[in-house]
Amino acid sequence: MYDIIIIGSGIIGSMLAYDLSRFNVSVCVLEKNVEIMNEVSSSNSGLVHAGYDPEDGTLKAQLNLIGAKRYPQIAKDLNVDYKQVGSLLVSNSMDEHEALLKYAQRATQRKIDVKYIQQDEIRRMEPNISDSVLEALFFPTTAIITPWQMGFACMNYAVLNGVKLFRQTKVIGIDKNENYTVHTTQGVFESKCVINCTGLNGVDVAKYQDPNSEHQLEFRKGEYQVSDIRDESYLNHVIYPMPSKLGKGVLALKTIEGNLMFGPTSYVIDNRYDFSTTVNGLNEVDSKISQIIKPLAKNRMIRQFAGVRPGSITKDFIIENKDGFINVIGIDSPGLASAPGISEYVIESFLKKDFELESKMNLVDFKWKKHLSSNERNELIKDDSRYGRIVCVCETISEKEIMNAIHLPVGARSIKGVKRITRPGSGRCQGGFCESEVVRILARELNVDMKDIPYDNDVFLTPLGGHDETR
Ligand SMILES: Cc1cc2nc3c(=O)[nH]c(=O)nc-3n(C[C@H](O)[C@H](O)[C@H](O)COP(=O)(O)OP(=O)(O)OC[C@H]3O[C@@H](n4cnc5c(N)ncnc54)[C@H](O)[C@@H]3O)c2cc1C
Repeated sequence: MYDIIIIGSGIIGSMLAYDLSRFNVSVCVLEKNVEIMNEVSSSNSGLVHAGYDPEDGTLKAQLNLIGAKRYPQIAKDLNVDYKQVGSLLVSNSMDEHEALLKYAQRATQRKIDVKYIQQDEIRRMEPNISDSVLEALFFPTTAIITPWQMGFACMNYAVLNGVKLFRQTKVIGIDKNENYTVHTTQGVFESKCVINCTGLNGVDVAKYQDPNSEHQLEFRKGEYQVSDIRDESYLNHVIYPMPSKLGKGVLALKTIEGNLMFGPTSYVIDNRYDFSTTVNGLNEVDSKISQIIKPLAKNRMIRQFAGVRPGSITKDFIIENKDGFINVIGIDSPGLASAPGISEYVIESFLKKDFELESKMNLVDFKWKKHLSSNERNELIKDDSRYGRIVCVCETISEKEIMNAIHLPVGARSIKGVKRITRPGSGRCQGGFCESEVVRILARELNVDMKDIPYDNDVFLTPLGGHDETR
């Protein structure tokens, strides 16, 4: 019996686990996939938006601001990458002038730093900006993170501080008597309170608790193009077009690692698990991106991917407490930016009323291991030569770093998990050279057969090891 069961380990579940692990409550997280952070939270732009975009009076507006404010400290505490790169919201026609001023006014009302800038200054800041850009707003506080790194760091901290994580544990039904009984593919779990953060399945899981729930989600796909890190110097800031009713639009940004990323598109789909990229979608990215920056040669692109937004038809987040069953659903953009705000809101508005939350003493520290510099690697090789055995040549990742990724408290169990944690397969060859070696190391370290190593969310055929997987 737990005090709180969190269903889903995307950024919302992981952030809640992180925050709750510092209080005297017992918490367990149930995740249907092999890896955490492997659905909506892994396929997005990774932006901590400044917060001028959501409509007044919405939870999105309120929680984006709190999230953006909390992220720098969380990143510092967990040693996670967080870069305040700043953004330009650009306009291409005088028809957009009024809208630009409206965003400037809204930002000022929300106490977000903003500066109006004209063509000369825009071109100085961003030499590859499109010739058609006329004016812009500069938001210095817009930041980028690597979403899965943030989620993994939060969940590793949480597990080290007492939260139980069960992967490959899909929730398939919920009963309420005195407490909640949560039925899963791995048996039954009980708790006083349940938090539903199941992203694309949010409404289905809400209906397990209340079959009459009338919430509705709309699934919008967003496709992206990603360049090689060699193009890093092409862009300095995040470049947003003017938002439309479809969202923030096709934008240009540089990831923490230095890849350029262009996208996402936005169109409604029926199959919420359709992460395919399409010719039409990628052509749309190419055509829209050229309205804000000068196009980069197509052969510079090394990867395409798509994400799916689970947006509520009310256009706002749904966060509600129904008799100890807390829905946190309809979390589309700016859900990543808002995650620390959403977690704080759930704790302050609901959990502090139902539980006497007291801060724990003697918390265990967790620091994320960032990509090694040459000097750091050379130092480590003196003690362990496996830091010098380079498996991923494109990104310079060694055997020992892959082993470290597998042996984290919430360690990688799949090829994609290793890629997310320590980047082999993220470079120009996209795993063509290193993937088989990653499989070999995974199989050896987990003591399973190579054929049982999943690429992604596929089911692990043999039981998982690790202290966090057992009850
Ligand atoms: C294209 C795109 C771009 C975006 N860009 C940004 C951005 O730049 N900035 C920003 O702030 N936001 C952005 N977002 C929004 C942001 O990514 C989401 O709001 C956020 O990731 C949602 O997190 P989540 O935890 O609610 O969902 P998820 O990450 O999907 O997590 C839900 C988890 O629940 C699990 N689950 C589902 N059903 C069950 C079940 N029955 N039993 C057990 N587990 C279950 C899933 O496996 C998953 O791990 C973007 C989204 C998309 C798609």
